[in-house]
Amino acid sequence: MRIVIDKKKCMGAGLCAMAAPTLFRQDAKGFVELLNANPLTAEDQAAAREAADLCPSGTIVLIEDGAPVDPGNGVT
Ligand code: SF4
Repeated sequence: MRIVIDKKKCMGAGLCAMAAPTLFRQDAKGFVELLNANPLTAEDQAAAREAADLCPSGTIVLIEDGAPVDPGNGVT
């Protein structure tokens, strides 16, 4: 699994940091900071999924292992 964040979308709700404190924290302004883009344990991966589900702004995108890679032309 790989975690990608689009910080421009972050509203500073902080739910990610509460759901997955080993993966996310809030900066001084309350916006998300990614601590670990490649969670390896099942526990961290579950927390990443919970954080992505809870995030109200779609900031957190999870790329699961084995997912097709979008070459950028819309064809996967
Ligand atoms: S839950 Fe989403 S909107 Fe809230 S701080 Fe985390 S990334 Fe930002």
